[in-house]
Amino acid sequence: MNFRTGTGYDVHAFTAGDHVMLGGVRIAHDKGIRAHSDGDVIIHALCDALLGAAGLGDIGQHFPDTDARWRGADSRALLVEVVRMLAQRGWRTINADVTLIAEAPRIGAHRAAMRQVLSETLGVEAAAVNIKATTQEGLGAIGRGEGIAAQAVALITAG
Ligand code: MG
Repeated sequence: MNFRTGTGYDVHAFTAGDHVMLGGVRIAHDKGIRAHSDGDVIIHALCDALLGAAGLGDIGQHFPDTDARWRGADSRALLVEVVRMLAQRGWRTINADVTLIAEAPRIGAHRAAMRQVLSETLGVEAAAVNIKATTQEGLGAIGRGEGIAAQAVALITAG
């Protein structure tokens, strides 16, 4: 079997708003995300991990923020497109592991829903998509609550 791994990282600043999109799930919050798309850092990091594993560059190359098509886009549509690009080349996902880095919102109550959305989109069982979260312990911009970030790693195979 042929295996590849890739990593992804994304960060977005908060702005005025009443919700954030994380892992394809809408979560009520006292701030929103400043972004060209819906600013879903979990999906963006996951897309980059998958693109990286397949040697296909990064999310900015495929979905440029100068392209009106992706303005306000539901990031699940980006992930669907990334999965399609990989499938075209014979790649399928084995598993993915994501870490959200944020002081807030807390995602414990939404974790199962995120796993469901992401695993269905990737075509894997829910157990193959792990969502972790940590705070920045009050340090730096994320610690001050100015934004949120996510890291992801994915394993793909062409076997
Ligand atoms: Mg992003």
